[in-house]
Amino acid sequence: MKSRRRVPASEGERWMLTQRRMFLVLTLLGTLGVSAALWVQAPNFDPLDKVALPLLALTLLVLDVSLTLRRISLSLAFRIIYVATSVYFLLALHQQFRVFVPIFTVLSENTYWFAVLYAAAFLTFPARRAVLVACGLFGASALISGYHLYTMLQTGPNPRLVGAVAQFLLVGGVMVAVQATFSFQRMQLLAARAAAYTDALTGLANRRAAEEHLAALYARQEPFTLVLFDLDHFKAVNDQHGHATGDLVLKGVSSAARSQLPSKGLAARWGGEEFLLVLPPLPSLEVRAMLDLLRAQLREQRYGAVDGLTASFGVATARSGDHPDDILTRADAAMYAAKRQGRNDIKMEELRRTQFGNSSVLPGKQHPEA
Ligand code: GH3
Ligand code: MG
Ligand code: MG
Repeated sequence: MKSRRRVPASEGERWMLTQRRMFLVLTLLGTLGVSAALWVQAPNFDPLDKVALPLLALTLLVLDVSLTLRRISLSLAFRIIYVATSVYFLLALHQQFRVFVPIFTVLSENTYWFAVLYAAAFLTFPARRAVLVACGLFGASALISGYHLYTMLQTGPNPRLVGAVAQFLLVGGVMVAVQATFSFQRMQLLAARAAAYTDALTGLANRRAAEEHLAALYARQEPFTLVLFDLDHFKAVNDQHGHATGDLVLKGVSSAARSQLPSKGLAARWGGEEFLLVLPPLPSLEVRAMLDLLRAQLREQRYGAVDGLTASFGVATARSGDHPDDILTRADAAMYAAKRQGRNDIKMEELRRTQFGNSSVLPGKQHPEA
């Protein structure tokens, strides 16, 4: 038997897998980092690090196990570790003002990590919440360092320490601003990308989105059924009622198509008044039942002065190794057969030189299981 490598179902799933691996790497690096930090300090451990660092490593391990057992979601794991790390670095900042700063009158290397935390906030949380989290962290670090600096300055001026704290806060503020700017640019980019795959009039997936969806199904060798349908005499709707009413009809047809779509199906506007449905490989009778419901909805719905709308449907199912273009050609041919034979009908692709009209009952084996 031919063994097939499991291909992730979607771009989203692939991203989840990447993130899962990232978390594993984080756990490894975290455990290594904690061990290195404690090894460097031995045998005079910092009282905070002695407790907090092993706790952090343990948290990472527990989260990893919980992820493997699917007890928590990946995003929750990232958020927990983000909060735990932030709390640790805030405590460490407070601690260094008590232990390290009075001796060296500068801030320790520990503060470098705040830049990482500001950047990580934008990877862990959605954009707006990330701004709040990063600002909150920045505010807490400013309060802690401001409080200690104020207390220390009571005993006399200390320009070196003032400079170090000012730089620490300045870098933090700049980091938050830079990350927030990147994050909002990314949001705009994502919105533009979504718009590039959406039909502006109907809100359905556009032809490009449908083509890429079909290419992805083909790449993963997933079977599917295509329904191509074209509104009958739509030009007459525009001619008699105006283009605006025509647009209203197209929007109504789109929401009807969306409402009849099974889960995991995709409805797209393929061209002017032509629509494409990409369905999971359903038995012919189910496809027909679904399309009959859609036809009834179109017929009964009123769009301005227009009612009794009909369409011609062509159905084709992917057979093993079929290229999407071949299935589209077959669905298109079936749809044109419906047009030629008087419109307002569903035609299944011709597999056994049989055509099924409006009221025919389809034999269950018309479509081989894909
Ligand atoms: P048939 O039954 O053979 O499909 O006839 P038909 O009139 O539907 O087909 P034809 O191709 O002659 O006309 C399609 C019409 O669809 C012409 C075009 O103006 C209209 N159309 C295409 N896109 C839009 C649109 O976005 N809005 C509106 N209102 N009309 C559109
Ligand atoms: Mg038409
Ligand atoms: Mg057309």
